[in-house]
Amino acid sequence: MTEAFDAVDLITIKRDRGELTTAQIDWLIEAYTRGFVADEQMSAFAMAVLLNGMTRSEIRDLTLAMIASGERLDFSGLDKATTDKHSTGGVGDKITLPLAPLVASFGVAVPQLSGRGLGHTGGTLDKLESIAGWRADVTPEAMLAQLADVGAVICAAGSGLAPADKKLYALRDTTGTVEAIPLIASSIMSKKIAEGTSALVLDVKFGEGAFMKDIDRARELARTMVDLGRDAGVTTTALLTDMSVPLGLTIGNALEVRESLEVLEGGGPSDVVELTIALAAEMLASAGVTDADPAAALADGRAMDVWRRMIEAQGGDASAPLPRARHSEVVTASRDGILTRQQALPFGIAAWRLGAGRARQGDAVSAGAGVELHAKPGDRVAAGAPLFTLHADDEARIPRALEAVDGAWEIGDDAPAERPLIAEAIR
Ligand code: URA
Repeated sequence: MTEAFDAVDLITIKRDRGELTTAQIDWLIEAYTRGFVADEQMSAFAMAVLLNGMTRSEIRDLTLAMIASGERLDFSGLDKATTDKHSTGGVGDKITLPLAPLVASFGVAVPQLSGRGLGHTGGTLDKLESIAGWRADVTPEAMLAQLADVGAVICAAGSGLAPADKKLYALRDTTGTVEAIPLIASSIMSKKIAEGTSALVLDVKFGEGAFMKDIDRARELARTMVDLGRDAGVTTTALLTDMSVPLGLTIGNALEVRESLEVLEGGGPSDVVELTIALAAEMLASAGVTDADPAAALADGRAMDVWRRMIEAQGGDASAPLPRARHSEVVTASRDGILTRQQALPFGIAAWRLGAGRARQGDAVSAGAGVELHAKPGDRVAAGAPLFTLHADDEARIPRALEAVDGAWEIGDDAPAERPLIAEAIR
């Protein structure tokens, strides 16, 4: 086969800050997926992109080429609008669990392809797998049937979706090129567009517990993804949300399911409820539903009804008791005062060390392990009152988790400055 381009020429163009054509990007991604362009060449290309960036049309071409590398789901046969959410990931981020059934309770279909966690951020599938019998693998046909019947499905993304991204993401992970905004944006959006949703809401997190530490980079990522969605005909909006403190009061698989059930029962921590309702309103608006009252659907049990049907459609027992870890250790306040600091990242690492997360792909996770918070920044605490509880199946994991949170919280005399959870919307 005669090759249309030479990889070295294309790397050199990017190295010298030039712009690639659609045909060049199409070839590069296709030839990389089939193994003709070598990993070391693609690593050099990724580094050139990290250093020199890409134009809007290059990012669009890259995204479309990654979509074309695999299969594309098609929900156009459904007689309802489809909308989806993607979060860039954070500590205690269980929002998908109450959100998908909540949005579906308004007659909008939510096809939510999710992943398993790696490192300190948890995966939605790991959380749902703590429910007895629940299965993450759903065929495209069963997914379509569940969307038509129940309205919401949360399941594993098939390996056929954007295989070029899978290969490139693994390479970026080992070459210091994960942080390039054009590569992050095209990676996330290629999977979301290939998934076939007609509208998408992005929860782009910033802060110490997030992938993007500062809001300016989070804003740039959000803008890039919103533009990409629009260019591909998917109605896309983004919320920039603060991830410097854990979201809600639980971090860990079954613990987070339990908290999601509280939200679906009309209760739950105020930050989880606020974000669930804000994202639901955005998703519903993106699907053309503008007069909905998501808070009412949580309060009157409509969203909970969809949850039960969604869990049962995938073999889960929605009434089964959730697993609990065998050991726990409570950490108490050393003095009276106000909790002034509670850093997301160390608490995420503690949950991971307790067994809630995995170190390597394919490792098993513990359903009951994690951290339960009893106070949030701004709360008054009394000496001896519980601040948080660590849960683990294996007691030997507790000391290393305690080490992770050492110095990650503080009790003072003055209330910390209030930080809005939702900083901005990008449309
Ligand atoms: N998540 C993805 O799917 N891709 C990235 O590049 C980063 C986060």
